[in-house]
Amino acid sequence: MVKPEQMSVARGQLGPKCGGCDSPLIFGESLVIDDRFYCQDCYERITGASSSTEPIEVEGLRMD
Ligand SMILES: [Zn+2]
Repeated sequence: MVKPEQMSVARGQLGPKCGGCDSPLIFGESLVIDDRFYCQDCYERITGASSSTEPIEVEGLRMD
């Protein structure tokens, strides 16, 4: 559940605020971790993911 103090209309529409850096977001660009919304930068910092690196292949997940 998103709390009112975690919401913002700074972007012209109601949206969440980033749980990491407090930036106003819109739902379309926000990323959710444990019911909190994060911007792309914070999400990548938290998850360790990076769009600039190749995805790591995980063994044992082949679908064939
Ligand atoms: Zn952020």
